[in-house]
Amino acid sequence: MRNALDRFRQARCQYCGAPAAGGSICGGVPGFSDEKSQFWCERCRLDLIEFSKLPENTLPEAFDISDVEFLEAFNRQMEKRKQREWDYMTQKIVERRGGEEKTGPGETEGNSNTVLFLRTLRSLLPAWKGASLFFVDADSVLKAISSLGIPVKMIPMVEPGQDWDLVSSDFSDEEILKRMFGEKLEKLPNGKLLIVTEACTRFSMEPWLVSHEHFRDFVIHYDIEMFFDGDVVILAPDAHQIVVFHHEGYFAHFDLRNG
Ligand SMILES: [Zn+2]
Repeated sequence: MRNALDRFRQARCQYCGAPAAGGSICGGVPGFSDEKSQFWCERCRLDLIEFSKLPENTLPEAFDISDVEFLEAFNRQMEKRKQREWDYMTQKIVERRGGEEKTGPGETEGNSNTVLFLRTLRSLLPAWKGASLFFVDADSVLKAISSLGIPVKMIPMVEPGQDWDLVSSDFSDEEILKRMFGEKLEKLPNGKLLIVTEACTRFSMEPWLVSHEHFRDFVIHYDIEMFFDGDVVILAPDAHQIVVFHHEGYFAHFDLRNG
């Protein structure tokens, strides 16, 4: 692993993609919690402070961790708060750019895979309004697809009655591949594939660009963590398709050809 100083020099704001002004790097505990780095620029930091000061977003200062009902309600509220933060930060970043989707921050580096991915996502799915790669996840993509009037029918990875959280560790990447794309990957879209995995948002890595012929090898040799460890969003611009794997154990293929 690169040292913290090196990582910090190259860091970009996770919200807008501008060079980072501050951040935190937490090494994580193997087998318990993942490494989690967070970086932000000064503008986004100020916007986040403003967001957290809004009455509906203030967090309780202390609570009893044995109060299960409270914790469940709190978890649900945090999910909604995350969604509000997403909307708030997206709007702030778009406003900063003069209200236009010209060159988003994080899109200024020529032909990086980040630029390519965001351009492709916006052209396949204009309803997707995220400001940067940080906002790419299964939920945001599914929300944009459903806003186009396309039915979002997700296929569960496991049989009814099985709990994905309990059985997911029995599934290898190869097994998940087969379930999603068929034994010979016959359902994999043709052409080039632009892919965002959990590592792209967690470690600020560039999206992957792989041609469909090499996809199986790529997934099997992927060794940052499991390929299907968290959400995976696959754009297939040549086939006009998007494939979404949701970390809760379901997936879907979407054909976005007009008409
Ligand atoms: Zn920023």
